[in-house]
Amino acid sequence: MTTRITKQATTDDGLKKAVEKRADVNLSACYQCRKCSIGCPVADEAGSPPSEIIRRLQLGAGDELLQTGLIWTCLACETCYARCPNRINFAAVIDALKSIAVEKGVAKPKGDAPLFNRSFLNTVKSYGRAYDLKAIAMYKLGTGSLGQDMDKFPAMLKKGKMAILPPSGADKRTVRRIFEKAAKNRGTGR
Ligand code: SF4
Ligand code: SF4
Repeated sequence: MTTRITKQATTDDGLKKAVEKRADVNLSACYQCRKCSIGCPVADEAGSPPSEIIRRLQLGAGDELLQTGLIWTCLACETCYARCPNRINFAAVIDALKSIAVEKGVAKPKGDAPLFNRSFLNTVKSYGRAYDLKAIAMYKLGTGSLGQDMDKFPAMLKKGKMAILPPSGADKRTVRRIFEKAAKNRGTGR
């Protein structure tokens, strides 16, 4: 299917520049070969696949782009990056769009992905590594779905997919410094 994308009525390079700066990419180098979109495992469900998002940024998309579903469904698998002949790191583009969307308080299109992200990152901040059990507990408390999928828990424990005890041995001080630096760069102090 061909999607026709027209230039925005109010051309504004602001979002493109902000994304390029945060993601350290040159979006003008994209020549729309679509190799990224063809390899993306969630492109079909996302509405706007990677190449389309880049084209929209090139054409001056504004904050309406922050509503795109791929921001919250991207798996960070970096297949798009690996397939791009111009070495455009689209996974970093998504991270940049996500952080801008959170900072601007843009409503998520659907689901609880921001809550999941926060729950996950809070455990990394506390323990220096991901602590799945706590992240899931925080997420479930936030969504009010404590009982959902609990039947899978024993099998996951048995197969070693989830640990009961928190991770140890991480360089917590360094990880905390990374979080502090990221908060400072965002200007939130959080
Ligand atoms: S990193 Fe995200 S956008 Fe890129 S291929 Fe994977 S799921 Fe798709
Ligand atoms: S693979 Fe690279 S050059 Fe091709 S459309 Fe995607 S981002 Fe653009």
